[in-house]
Parts: sequence; C-alpha cells; structure tokens
Amino acid sequence: NKTDIGLVGLAVMGENLALNMADRGWNVSVYNRTVPGVEEGVVVRFVNGRAKGKSIEGYTDIAEFVTSIATPRKIMMMVRAGSAVDELMEQLFPHLSEGDILIDGGNSNYEDTNRRVALAEKKGFRFVGTGVSGGEEGALNGASIMPGGSESAWPEVKPILQSIAAKASDGTPCCQWIGPAGSGHFVKMIHNGIEYGDMQLIAEAYWVMKNLLGLDNGQMAEIFADWNEGKLRSYLIEITANILRHKDRSGGYLIDKILDTAGQKGTGKWSVINAMELGMPLGLIATAVFERSLSVQKGLRETASKQFVCRRSQAVYNKSEMVKDIYSALYASKLVSYAQGFAVLQRASDAFAWNLDLASIARMWRGGCIIRSIFLNDIATAFEAKDKPKHLLLAPYFKNEMQLLLSGWKHLVAQSMKEELPVPAFSSALNYFYSLVSVKLPANMIQAQRDYFGAHAFERTDELRGQFFHENWTGHGGDTKSGTYNV
Ligand code: NDP
Repeated sequence: NKTDIGLVGLAVMGENLALNMADRGWNVSVYNRTVPGVEEGVVVRFVNGRAKGKSIEGYTDIAEFVTSIATPRKIMMMVRAGSAVDELMEQLFPHLSEGDILIDGGNSNYEDTNRRVALAEKKGFRFVGTGVSGGEEGALNGASIMPGGSESAWPEVKPILQSIAAKASDGTPCCQWIGPAGSGHFVKMIHNGIEYGDMQLIAEAYWVMKNLLGLDNGQMAEIFADWNEGKLRSYLIEITANILRHKDRSGGYLIDKILDTAGQKGTGKWSVINAMELGMPLGLIATAVFERSLSVQKGLRETASKQFVCRRSQAVYNKSEMVKDIYSALYASKLVSYAQGFAVLQRASDAFAWNLDLASIARMWRGGCIIRSIFLNDIATAFEAKDKPKHLLLAPYFKNEMQLLLSGWKHLVAQSMKEELPVPAFSSALNYFYSLVSVKLPANMIQAQRDYFGAHAFERTDELRGQFFHENWTGHGGDTKSGTYNV
C-alpha cells in the first residue's frame, strides 16, 4: 500500500506538518538525510517518538522513500531555504516518474522558485513553491499556505494542503492557488514584510506608552488586550498582551530583561529589495527592517546616547487621550503598510503576468499566519468591490477610517518628536500619507537638479506629457540630452 504524500526535512516545520497530515487522515512517508556515524537518526527518533501510532512511515533511504508514495507522487520539502533545496531536488530527480509533484514549503526566494518550476517542468515533473506561515503551532494545527507554480498540480495537492490549512472564521481554508512560477513565495515574502511592519508598529506603541505615559507592563497589557477586542484584533496584538504579562522564574517581567537587539532572517529585506526593483514605495517595511539593523548597533547607540542626551519634558499627559492617539497612530500606520504591501503585489502581478487575486490573498491571511487579523476581511471586501480601488486607502471604507484617525495620528507623531522619542514607522507612514495626498511634490526641484548636472531632461507643466526638455542652465553647457529611461 502506497502512501498519499512524502515529506522531506524533519526539523520543527516538517515534523509538525507530517503530524498534521496524519491527523487529517493522510498516510505520510517521511525522510530526512542521515548523518553518517549517528546511530539513531532523526527519522527513527521521530517515528518512535511523536509519530508513534500514527499513519507515518519513516525512511532513511531516499529511493525507498520515493517508491513508497503513490503516483503521481507528491513530495513536500521542508528543508533549509537556499542551496539545500537544489541539492535535495537533484537527489530526488533520478527516482521520480513523469508528472510527479515536488512541493517546496520552505521560505525560498521567489526567483529560485521561478527557476525550479522551469527546471522541474523541463524534466517532465511539476513543482509547487508554497509559503507556509504560522510557525510550529500553525504547522501542527493549521497554517496559512500560499501555493504557486505548475498549475496542473493544484487539483492534485489541493485536498491535502487545504486539509492542513487553518480555517478562517467563515470556515474557508487559508490556502488557495496563488498563481504561476514563484508567485506563492513572492506573496509569502510580502506577508513576512508586513509582519516586520506590524511588529515595529506595535513596538512603537509600547514605547510611547512606556516613555511618555509611564505605564507599567500590567497597564500596557490591559490596553493591548482591550484593543484586541476591537478593530485591531489580531494575533500579534494578542501575544503582545501576553508577553507584557509574562513573568519568568525570578518573578520579574521577562520583557524588561530582553536585550533590545532584534534579529532578522531576510524576508523583510527581500520584500524591500523587490519593491525597489519594481519601483514601488514600501517605506514602512523598509523602516522596520532598518530599525532592526540599527537596534543591533547597540554599542554605537550606547556611545551616541552619552553624547546627545534626549530631553524629555516633565509633562504629565492625559492617559486616555494619549492612548487614543497611540491607537490612531498604530491603526492608520498599519493601514498604510498594508496599502503599500498590496500595491507591491499588484505591481508584481502586472509585471510578471501572475493575475493575482488580492481579495483571495487577504482572505488567506485571515487565519493560521502571523499577521492574521480581522481587518483583513475589510481589505478583502475593498478589493472585491465592483469599483476596484486604485489604492487601498482610497477604498471608501478605508478613506473614512483615515479621516477619523488622522488627527490623533499626527498629534502623536508631533508630540513624540518634541519629546525626542523615536517613532520611525509612525512618522514614515504619516509622511507617505501626506505625500500620497499631495497633488504637488518638490520633485520638480529634483528634475531640475538632474537636468542641471546630468542633462537628464524633464517634462514641463506647460507642454504635453511625454516630451522631454533640456535647459542650458549655465549658458556654456551643450544641447545633448541624456536618455530619459527610468529604472
Ligand atoms: P530549518 O530551516 O532549520 O531546516 C532544517 C532542515 O533542513 C533539517 O531537516 C535539515 O536536515 C534539512 N537540511 C539542511 N540542509 C540540507 C541539505 N543540504 N539537504 C537535505 N536536507 C537539509 O528548519 P525549519 O523546520 O525551521 O524550517 C524549514 C523551512 O521552513 C525553512 O525554509 C524555513 O525558512 C521555513 N519556515 C520556517 C518556519 C519556522 O517557524 N521555523 C515558519 C515558516 C517557514 P538535518 O536534520 O539533517 O540537518
């Protein structure tokens, strides 16, 4: 009897996904490379441990592993992103039959997935690159799964992937087909970028409450728990309340003992790099990534903090007023971040002919993943409207929300700046918003400077668009223009 699916890579994600599949009634073959000299390998430990009594068969020989799976085979790879996936594919290829499906569930770069889909298809196989979000807990109990690649593979993998996906509150699985090539991994990358942004925004809200209002951890936990009952209801807000309440074995609050240097594994950085490649603003996520980089320069900050002492006034702020302003800043900045993120998805969809369904993506993120929240419902509704908005913030519902939030948001940013307290993501979002709604920007000056020193040419407000002019600014320049291409 052959199994329904194979899974390679028994680290935290692979183990839990295999258990999830078995619990949904699938027969699973699992394989992990064995380290020579180690008697009891990962596979043996898993099969005799957490997988005991479940419909999971362990293999330490790759040929036997592949043979054990029913054709067309579905083999999910949960190994370290990067060259490990290519090495594993090369090891699997000789054992596969035509039409077999490889599924990469790791955090692969979408350009690698573009390449792997083409390579697998050239060999007569199929390839699905899927983002999986939700960490260990999601892998075991229901993740948000974002598959893309060889489209003919979707009907084959759909029953298994949807069964192990989280279900949104209306019961729909948080796993739908994303599109061709590396689109699934691109969408997962932007999901992670948005996660960076959300985390930075929550951290700033915490910082203002702590530093300008002088609230203690218990009081702050209550505010986050309260926000979690309203429009900001989301996994990250919920865990923030739990984190603030958490005491470690010494009896003190753990949050106060954690070093203020934030790590990163690259998906935030990739989001920003790819937004830049597409010529799209993604300032909030960029700020979140750069703030993590600055946080790591702890020694430099220590030195600098002795030379420039930030001065706080002794002002006593009205707690309920300021908490409302912090809420406005957090919610409005979050809207800006999602608007920027979805605009990048739309641009990628147009540039690569992926035909992404933004409403479906928003719905897929409502459960299982780290950025799950109820306001993704409102985003999906906005993208489903007959009159598709040009930009998320211009959808009637969000336009109205922004109008209500603006006053508290700008007040909070201004107050924090006066108090010399950094709120880089709140202010980045506010500056983006003001730029977005400005019919005129000082880019005319930039164009003039570019033309002055580099003959890059400019369009004129008193001539038809698309015609480029060069001015002889100094009287001794030439008439030759530079090319007017944009990169
Ligand atoms: P790791 O990213 O730590 O990967 C470890 C696994 O990869 C082990 O099974 C390891 O085998 C295997 N591996 C490493 N190099 C090779 C190789 N050259 N050939 C074959 N196998 C290899 O484990 P995770 O479970 O954390 O993550 C798996 C994937 O899922 C990664 O791409 C990760 O980015 C992604 N992911 C992780 C999440 C998380 O919360 N951890 C959430 C969502 C996605 P061995 O035991 O022999 O070393």
